[in-house]
Amino acid sequence: MTVVVPFYRHDLGTFELDAIADVFRGPILTTGDTVSAFEQAFALFLGRRHAIGVTSCTGAMHMALMALGIGLGDEVITTPMTFIATAAAILEAGATPVFVDVEPDTGNIDANLIEAAITPRTKAILPVHLYGLLCDMRALRAIADKHGLAIVEDAAHCVEGIRDGIRPGGLSNAACFSFYATKNLTCGEGGALTTDDPALLESLRLLRLHGMTKSAADRHREGYQHWDMKILGWKYNMDNIQAAMLIPQLRRLESKLKERERLARLYEERLGGLNWLQIPALPQNTVHARHLFPVWVEGPLRDQMIRGLQERGIQTVVNYRAIHLTSYLKEKLGHAAGDFPVAESIGERTLSLPYYPGMPDGHIDIVCDALQAVAAQTRK
Ligand SMILES: *Cc1c(COP(=O)(O)O)cnc(C)c1O
Repeated sequence: MTVVVPFYRHDLGTFELDAIADVFRGPILTTGDTVSAFEQAFALFLGRRHAIGVTSCTGAMHMALMALGIGLGDEVITTPMTFIATAAAILEAGATPVFVDVEPDTGNIDANLIEAAITPRTKAILPVHLYGLLCDMRALRAIADKHGLAIVEDAAHCVEGIRDGIRPGGLSNAACFSFYATKNLTCGEGGALTTDDPALLESLRLLRLHGMTKSAADRHREGYQHWDMKILGWKYNMDNIQAAMLIPQLRRLESKLKERERLARLYEERLGGLNWLQIPALPQNTVHARHLFPVWVEGPLRDQMIRGLQERGIQTVVNYRAIHLTSYLKEKLGHAAGDFPVAESIGERTLSLPYYPGMPDGHIDIVCDALQAVAAQTRK
């Protein structure tokens, strides 16, 4: 198949190459000063006290739950409308994901349904800011306070988002970010957490590197000193090469968000009036991080759309089919079709269109024309 309209293209270039070259000229390839510089800049961007660089958002969520002492026998409330990593991180921590259905107009976890899912075992809520739209964090915070729960955010889609003046991490114990290849901020593979809690930060620092009290950079700076293993940790530390790629991109985030906004408006102008297609809602007082541009079509249309667009050289992706119906989670957690009807309905109708800063405006026309052509063929 010839690709006419790619789903995504990164915009890494000379700034990132120069930054990587600087790391090559220095002594430390692994976690060191470049990671610290990124952590400071990232925390500043989000208005948080601390950030900590890791190798993935999956690892970040796993570590955050461990650092909060959440594990075997505990339940964590989350959404089935997400990538499997959200539930996997809870299971890796030894806890049980408890799904709550989502809002029909946004796909985010429905705060009104959370209290009914709380049990004496519930320890935390793990909301996902789907597509880049922040959940109603004030509502989630109120529920968490009432029941003494922690909040860990899956902000993989949402570095730039703001809602009611709140950014990711503003009302939670920790927010977790992904720098995976197609995310708004990327180093191929990578992630970070933010927190305002110095005690949590200390645990996270230990957890990301085997529970060791000294790192390679410490040895380089201070000379060799005996170190200790304080706790059982993981190998989740971000390296200087990853951090080097991320720092120059922080300066472009705002201008790229404006471009994402402009492209979203072009799509909305073309697709807004179609009765077989729904665009997820944008609540008041919100800056959307615009990670993805999904449309929700009539159920039977979706898979025909994917095929029809593919035949025309247009790449699309599904984010996501409701994850409680994947073989493993269905079996492990004892779920069945119908358990979370709203998430299932969105999962059967959603289709993410090609969308990235630098995408030619003409590609939007090609995609919208193709969507209408396939709909005209199949909706007879
Ligand atoms: C990408 C993604 C993750 C996983 O991020 P990694 O950095 O690949 O571990 C988790 N949750 C959501 C919603 C994602 O889109």
